[in-house]
Amino acid sequence: MAQRQSRFDRNDDLVVMKFGGTSVEDAAAIRRLIGIVKSRLNAQAVVVVSALARVTDQLLEAGKAAASGHLGAALSCVRSMYVRHELLAEELLGPDHGMGGEFRREFGELESWLGDLERSREMDLQAQDRLLGFGECLSSKLVGAALEEAGVNAAHADARKCIVTDAQHGQANPLWELTSERVRDVLGPLLEGGQVPVLGGFIAAAENGVPTTLGRGGSDFSAAILGAALGAAKVEIWTDVDGIMTTDPKLCADARVIRKMSFDEAAELAHFGAKVLHPATLAPAMRENIPVYVLNSRKPEGEGTEIVAKAKTGNAVSAITAKRRVAAVEIESKQPLDSELFRKIYAAFGRHRCPVDVMGTSLGRISLLVSSTAPLPGIAADLEGVANVRWENHKALVCLVGESIRRQPEVASRVFAAVSDMDVRVVCQGASDRTISFLVEEEKVEESVQRLHGLFFAPPEPQGDWGGISSAFYQAG
Ligand code: ADP
Ligand code: ASP
Ligand code: MG
Repeated sequence: MAQRQSRFDRNDDLVVMKFGGTSVEDAAAIRRLIGIVKSRLNAQAVVVVSALARVTDQLLEAGKAAASGHLGAALSCVRSMYVRHELLAEELLGPDHGMGGEFRREFGELESWLGDLERSREMDLQAQDRLLGFGECLSSKLVGAALEEAGVNAAHADARKCIVTDAQHGQANPLWELTSERVRDVLGPLLEGGQVPVLGGFIAAAENGVPTTLGRGGSDFSAAILGAALGAAKVEIWTDVDGIMTTDPKLCADARVIRKMSFDEAAELAHFGAKVLHPATLAPAMRENIPVYVLNSRKPEGEGTEIVAKAKTGNAVSAITAKRRVAAVEIESKQPLDSELFRKIYAAFGRHRCPVDVMGTSLGRISLLVSSTAPLPGIAADLEGVANVRWENHKALVCLVGESIRRQPEVASRVFAAVSDMDVRVVCQGASDRTISFLVEEEKVEESVQRLHGLFFAPPEPQGDWGGISSAFYQAG
């Protein structure tokens, strides 16, 4: 492996392990987590957990219900969440578990917060961040206690005291220097004392202490931030699939695990919609050259995927991904396409906090892709007098990733031949050499991914008990 250029001392003995929602969803999952953590105790370990599966979505629904005046519905959702956590604590820690007071305090605060939302009849992103953070606060305390009960010297640590971000609520960005200092101040003494810190992923706080979040799926990013700040030897992302696969196994049953891939390829995959990693996860790992492993918490003995600085999958196409809920935006200029116009357009999208995905330009026109939830009417109104803005919803972006895929023209021709009967729009204007992407109608996404997967990842030839040569021999005979 290349020499690591860490700004900090490398801790060759430290592993940061992140467990996603399904890996903490019930008592059986948390017992598996305990087994995995114990198997790593020959090294120092930091544990990062997501909220229990589905809790973040439920909190969001409860917040929306409260803010639209349906406090009763919001509270009943929160009460079933309370019962779920309470039963889980009983199952893992016994009937006299000491979490009762903690749960009553957290859920009491959550209920009064929902009451505030009902009164104000609005939930802005700052309020939403505070609300969604309850899930990780609860799960991290529960998992910390379960680890202790199982004999691990675990210590709960408050992620909001470690990860410091800007105030971009909904998808905040870490302030790296400050975060590194805090992480080492808070977690350093615990690690030196031989303890295993347990933190909630996804949650952070701005410099003034106001809670923020790192965006949906952000616990992966939390693990990488902590790994980078502590100079960890590796980051492990424990999830519900065997590793990063050639495509989402929910889209195509033939998907198979990629054993090793480069940071760059994995980052492209995450950026283009592979939910298995939060898109920002690999940046800090890359910067500090920390290998990242994606592993299945249901099959801890599996090898998973290793993501390192340099790796070749050996195929022109390493993986195929799809990003749904995309809107294709066409901006027709009333003036020449110059830097002033681009500035105005970016300013309008920036003001509405709308990230822009892929962009192409042609005479007098700019094409952009944004999430279909983007506030496009507001952006179009801002640009009135400068440009006409039109858009179409219900699109999906299909993306093929492979080291230097664009330098192999035959790949693109095979791709477009395979989907030539679909209403495909080519939008491969991204800056990277590693992707070919195109837009399809959302309802066609599954079919197009399956066709392309069949084309580039044909299932292995069935082999007889005696291997390929023997079966050929028997067939010939
Ligand atoms: P967690 O809760 O552990 O963070 P996520 O649901 O966020 O898990 O991510 C895991 C899911 O990512 C898998 O169940 C799978 O459906 C999806 N996924 C999408 N693309 C891929 C891919 N290329 N390889 C593996 N999983 C993928
Ligand atoms: N619980 C958060 C979410 O569902 C963060 C995460 O799971 O990574 O988005
Ligand atoms: Mg995730």
